[in-house]
Amino acid sequence: MTERSYRQITRRKSRKIMVGPVAVGGDAPISVQTMTNTRTSDVEGTLDQVRRAAAAGADIVRVSCPDEDSTAALKAIVKGSPVPIVADIHFNYRRAIEAAEAGAACLRINPGNIGSVERVREVIQAARDHNCSMRIGVNAGSLDKHLLEKYGEPCPEALVESALEHARILEDNDFREFKISVKASNVFMAVAAYRGLAAACDYPLHLGITEAGGLTRGTVQSALGIGALLWEGIGDTLRVSLTADIAEEVKVGFEILKALDLRHRGVKIISCPTCARQGFDVVKTVETLEKRLAHISAPVTVSILGCVVNGPGEARETMIGVTGGGVGADRNRVYLEGVSDHNVGGAEMIDHIVELVEAKARALDAAKAGE
Ligand code: SF4
Repeated sequence: MTERSYRQITRRKSRKIMVGPVAVGGDAPISVQTMTNTRTSDVEGTLDQVRRAAAAGADIVRVSCPDEDSTAALKAIVKGSPVPIVADIHFNYRRAIEAAEAGAACLRINPGNIGSVERVREVIQAARDHNCSMRIGVNAGSLDKHLLEKYGEPCPEALVESALEHARILEDNDFREFKISVKASNVFMAVAAYRGLAAACDYPLHLGITEAGGLTRGTVQSALGIGALLWEGIGDTLRVSLTADIAEEVKVGFEILKALDLRHRGVKIISCPTCARQGFDVVKTVETLEKRLAHISAPVTVSILGCVVNGPGEARETMIGVTGGGVGADRNRVYLEGVSDHNVGGAEMIDHIVELVEAKARALDAAKAGE
């Protein structure tokens, strides 16, 4: 299906860097990140969140390192984590060195903010010694003073200029293992800044709309901003920022990638908004299926539609389709690989769909393992 011309996205050519074992940029799949909000010094609490994020599909997880207790805990967190850990550092170059020594896969740090040339060199040396990449993370809310004076207010040009200034410091030290983000809470500003940065360099870009809000608002903001950029081929890794559970950030990140056919993970359920024609309770069915199928990582497509108006058509495009058989009929049609197959209804319907999806997921996993 992806070969259809109207669905094709040509990705910007970027350098490839490594965040631990995860490649970012070049032809690497677009990775999904999130960030813990426990105290990093609480190793068990933080690892619990990291594991939950990884189970939801996160490829990379970031933890803040505001103090020495945090970097001291980092070693155990890195050791227990199933995914590479990025250490978030602000201002203090010692925390950066400690984080690199503790095994962080990447440092989120702005080299222009850590003081003397010598300190920058020390951080870069620590990163080199420990195979640690970096992310320059420019944020509209914390732009450098001289750029605010020059531009009068945060704007896309100021974000790009700031990012390139920080990048130059690393380049001057012959260090190019980094990605860049230019986040803003305003979608227009963030998108314009990323476009400018994409045109000005070939570093991999970490996308995000910062301080995007709660689950609903943040999802919409991120889908618009991150989605618009990905659609243009810009972006190599992303984090959806939500004032919500971290697993939600990961889920929304994947939904954006799935909507653009950039990456598929887990079950994609196409379902109708329902109306008087529905042959079964579509809302309740989909809600239950989403919960019961959340553990599946294989890219299974499912369509759940209330009636024959659109059901057979959508079923043709999905691996498993269910179409309502008419009001009160309690007999709904199941399609397998687009072909009408058998009827199902009543209390056993959800269990039956779950079994079909799990079997399909096993087959896809086995086929992948055989490749
Ligand atoms: S598929 Fe049928 S039940 Fe669902 S919204 Fe459309 S017409 Fe209504």
